[in-house]
Amino acid sequence: MYDPLAIQIQYVPGVGPKRAEVLEKDLGLRCVGDLLHYYPYKYIDRSRLYQIREIDGTMPYIQLQGEILSFEELGEGRKQRLVAHFTDGTGVVDLVWFQGLRFLKGRYRVHTKYIVFGRPAPYGGRISIAHPDIDEPEKLSLSQMGLVPAYNTSERMKRMGLNSAALQRFVSAAFAALKVPPPETLPPWFVEEHGLLPLPEALRQIHFPASPAQLRQAQYRFKFEELFFIQLQILRYAKERGQKFRGFLFPRVGELFNGFYAYHLPFPLTGAQMRVLREIRRDTCSGRQMNRLLQGDVGSGKTVVALMTMLLALDNGYQACLMAPTEILAGQHLETVQKMLQGMDIRVELLTGSVRGRQREAILQGLASGSVRILIGTHAVLEEPVSFARLGMAVIDEQHRFGVAQRARLWQKSAQPPHVLVMTATPIPRTLAMTLYGDLDVSIIDELPPGRKPVQTQHRYDDRRASLYQFLRREIQAGRQGYVVYPLIQESEKSDLKNLEQGYGQMCAVFPEFRISKVHGRMKPAEKDAEMARFARGETQIMVATTVIEVGVNVPNASVMIIENADRFGLSQLHQLRGRVGRGAEQSYCILITGYKLSSDTRRRIEIMTQTNDGFEIAEADLKLRGPGDLEGTQQSGIAFDLKIANVARDGQLLQHVREVARRIVDDDPQALNPRNALLWQRLALLRKDHVDWSVIS
Ligand code: ADP
Ligand code: MG
Repeated sequence: MYDPLAIQIQYVPGVGPKRAEVLEKDLGLRCVGDLLHYYPYKYIDRSRLYQIREIDGTMPYIQLQGEILSFEELGEGRKQRLVAHFTDGTGVVDLVWFQGLRFLKGRYRVHTKYIVFGRPAPYGGRISIAHPDIDEPEKLSLSQMGLVPAYNTSERMKRMGLNSAALQRFVSAAFAALKVPPPETLPPWFVEEHGLLPLPEALRQIHFPASPAQLRQAQYRFKFEELFFIQLQILRYAKERGQKFRGFLFPRVGELFNGFYAYHLPFPLTGAQMRVLREIRRDTCSGRQMNRLLQGDVGSGKTVVALMTMLLALDNGYQACLMAPTEILAGQHLETVQKMLQGMDIRVELLTGSVRGRQREAILQGLASGSVRILIGTHAVLEEPVSFARLGMAVIDEQHRFGVAQRARLWQKSAQPPHVLVMTATPIPRTLAMTLYGDLDVSIIDELPPGRKPVQTQHRYDDRRASLYQFLRREIQAGRQGYVVYPLIQESEKSDLKNLEQGYGQMCAVFPEFRISKVHGRMKPAEKDAEMARFARGETQIMVATTVIEVGVNVPNASVMIIENADRFGLSQLHQLRGRVGRGAEQSYCILITGYKLSSDTRRRIEIMTQTNDGFEIAEADLKLRGPGDLEGTQQSGIAFDLKIANVARDGQLLQHVREVARRIVDDDPQALNPRNALLWQRLALLRKDHVDWSVIS
């Protein structure tokens, strides 16, 4: 079938092979279809003319009609500029050029009607517009006068003259050259049922909207389509899995679970913990394989839920494992679990990269024979040839990036996929969780154990350190410990390391009486662990570190967290770091240090941190501030996530709606055989081929 969108982009009139190469390299545009689906990132309203006296400093762009009164050349050398005094009878603005002066003066005439378009800015008591677009009114076409599309381009493209206007010309030319309309990608009944604009119309309106209402309709269609296929992909995949695998049944609540609950559990469970355990019970009795994400803020008590979930597996004759992201955390889990299970006859083993030789052999054997009933380890264990006799339950801690692919790997550990519980303290906003983990059920612990004092968070400017150090000294003298954290966005950034070294030097100079630890990502894991352990044992009082301490480390005696250059951290990261304190009975403090110069976004982040300790609130705010593309987890999810037009933060409602639409289709057509859905299943197959190696799973 002839598809006009498949034509290579170089054949679009005005493009040619050389520009085509750049379009492909910088924007990934290879064919006409790519170009037409390269949507504008915004639209500038050129549908109306303003008067100079209306300009109030809030308008990003402005369009005026009037005439040039006179030209003036000002400044010398690099400051040289050409100024045209322009009036529409209601006032005067200055049009300013810094480049191409000679050429410009001949180009425009005084006392001639022009339409001027640009960004107004106050300068020297007047309004000036730098490098405006200037047209003669009769030469402006309609498409240049309405909502004008603006396209993102790269720096290199701009230098070559391939700016937004050039892209607009290419899109225009591509439309003009279309011999037949682009074929509809959705079944006709679907387009009709959901009130979507047909594809050819939607494409045209998204580039050259006839009105704001039509633009919204075009955007709606593309957002709908984009989100719909992600949901279809997730739900279809969940369906296939459900058809293929049965879940282990855990009907017994036996001796171990009940014995632990009655005699070993050192505190009453919170209501939220009990609710989550009930949800897990229901899953494990359903015959479906459980895939549950457990979200609970730092310190909310996820570990004991994990432990009791594992005991449930043991009671039913299965083994269980608990995986942590680092060796330190795995070690801490072992300690906790052993302590809680003291007096119960359960073989628990720790398997990490540093367990070697005969010891490792013995553990592997125990796993294969079934005598090791609980395995605690790092995620790395999953990569290795570890096999279990009867693995029934796998708990993955501090990991919200445990995507489809990783779960698939886990399933190969035993004859039948175990139930999976993924735990994370980094809350994912509901809308994002639905998209990332659409096939995962979500449980939430939204209640902290009683008696916790919320961490107090303050913002300090970096020239006010002296009083801060006094405060830290008093806390340490009272027997507490403190962290000082430096940003290290990329572990290879030399200047960051220098910051850390300088900070360490400074702390040593300010606190000669204390012992100070230092940990960063360039250290060998064993060194790092040793230093962390020293701090955990209280042998050092201050820990100077990069974000390597972010995840899960538990030193309840630490009561102060100082975060240097706090402006360089994202919200979720700040919240994670703050979670390292406030784990004991003492009042804890988190101090965010920044310079005076802060962007408004940064100010907002710091403000949110000082106002709330609620991880969900913070995650929602983070999503709004940063957009989902930057959130951790989106890349690793294994799901195509380079959303072109939809925005999970803003389009939450639409997302929920299309999810229901997708669910109906998957439920009504479980074998994907209904001819009326043929187009949908074809598209889905293409998506799978492009993005994920689903063969691992299905
Ligand atoms: P996280 O959810 O961050 O992994 P943990 O499981 O490490 O939290 O729990 C934090 C602390 O709270 C631990 O010391 C744990 O023993 C304690 N804890 C957990 N549940 C309760 C509870 N219901 N009542 C009192 N303390 C609890
Ligand atoms: Mg934990």
